[in-house]
Amino acid sequence: MQNYDNFIDGKFKPSSGQDRITVFNPSTGEPICTVPDSSVADVNEAVEAAEAAQKDWAKRPAIERAKALRALAAKIREQVEPLARLITEEQGKVLDLARVEVAFTADYFDYMAEWARRIEGEIVESDRPGETILLFRQPIGVIGGILPWNFPFFLIARKAAPALVTGNSIVIKPSEETPHNAVKFCELMAQTDLPAGLINVVHGRGATAGNALASHARIGMISFTGSVETGSAIMASAAPNITKVNLELGGKAPAIVMGDADIDMAVRAVKASRVINSGQVCNCAERVYVEKRVAGQFVDKLAAAMKGTRFGNPLADSTVEYGPLINEAGYKKVDALVRSAMAAGATVATGGQRGASEGGYYYEPTVVTGCTQEMDIVRREVFGPVVPVVEFEDLDQAIAFANDSDYGLTSSIYTRDLNVALRACQEIRFGETYINRENFEAMQGFHAGWRKSGIGGADGKHGLYEFTQTHVVYMQRH
Ligand code: NAD
Repeated sequence: MQNYDNFIDGKFKPSSGQDRITVFNPSTGEPICTVPDSSVADVNEAVEAAEAAQKDWAKRPAIERAKALRALAAKIREQVEPLARLITEEQGKVLDLARVEVAFTADYFDYMAEWARRIEGEIVESDRPGETILLFRQPIGVIGGILPWNFPFFLIARKAAPALVTGNSIVIKPSEETPHNAVKFCELMAQTDLPAGLINVVHGRGATAGNALASHARIGMISFTGSVETGSAIMASAAPNITKVNLELGGKAPAIVMGDADIDMAVRAVKASRVINSGQVCNCAERVYVEKRVAGQFVDKLAAAMKGTRFGNPLADSTVEYGPLINEAGYKKVDALVRSAMAAGATVATGGQRGASEGGYYYEPTVVTGCTQEMDIVRREVFGPVVPVVEFEDLDQAIAFANDSDYGLTSSIYTRDLNVALRACQEIRFGETYINRENFEAMQGFHAGWRKSGIGGADGKHGLYEFTQTHVVYMQRH
């Protein structure tokens, strides 16, 4: 079994931390590799390297910085298959999805490189004769990137690409569940001309390495993707230094199925949304509201579609549609939410048990009907292949149910009536709404959660500018 190191200042470096973390294959429970639980000294060293590298980097024309991103994209494209296998091995998603993740990561570096000639400031009118007022977009400095495990490779690009093209450097802490792909990313990075210190990777647990990064006085912004609870802890760690935070947190996406919807299409989209990555995706439909007059038909079709879903070890069987849950804690949370719904009067239409497969924590594709707005399964993020279904009387009630949530990341509506879709878009209080399609964002959009789902956002022009700060210059002519 390989023991890996951190990547600091362009080199792999042993950690001074005492403890090591073993990474397991969630499909089998077998160990894969170890990474260090890095110390405060390791994080300090990485931040110092990033700080030193950023000064020169920021002075380069953006188009030169973009070249470095394109080189990373090209390197990733040479290794799609081995990278995809490695992601599947440590995270459990099916190989096709891992291949999409790797390809999307390369595309994301290229997409952000395209912004190099499009970063714009402003010139505004002055109140004084002979004066010009200029607004520049400047880099923030050193970014701290803290990553989750569900799309671990893509998240490296989502943090590093906008950071670098706008002239920042970054220190990344991958999830302790899925650090292996980040090690491989560093190996690829070392084969390019990227100046040392611009992207540093420090491994470790949240309470140790994560906290050291979030509370570091010389980090300009912490860009975090993960749970609401950790987002809140990171805000607290960042607070003493007034460090800017960019938080992409959990979701509890409502899907509203109107009586006039194309029911087969809605069933396909909701099912796809619940089984992709074993239901462990922040933006996917987590609760379904269906109009009473079509509820029976919708539930029957959804239960049949879910029941027929094949799951298992994705490296052993390429025909499975989803793999295991990430770990035992993930399994226990999913199962406890299903049990609590049943205890509160809901009915399991299909599934509701641990999946019979050796080693990993598999959960059967599950549909729970007769749910109510008060149940935990409708209020808390499940993060598993489980669909809770609530019936509604009319659009007013559906919108009220959808908005009655601490989360505000994504939402969707299925209808043939344009007026209904438009009203939902105007009244639904979520960062994203999908109409008649499954939930999955585009890199040129803006992925941002409202309420407890986050602060700021990622992707597109608005996501890029999160990595800049505005500098105003007043020029007086005499
Ligand atoms: P998590 O919050 O448990 O961990 C995320 C990261 O935070 C890990 O790297 C962890 O080590 C670190 N961490 C934990 N405690 C910390 C602390 N006190 N200080 C600093 N860092 C700390 O989340 P997870 O289980 O890895 O990911 C699943 C969650 O992520 C779900 O809630 C999901 O909805 C969310 N998510 C959101 C998006 C989005 O774009 N909004 C995308 C993917 C995942």
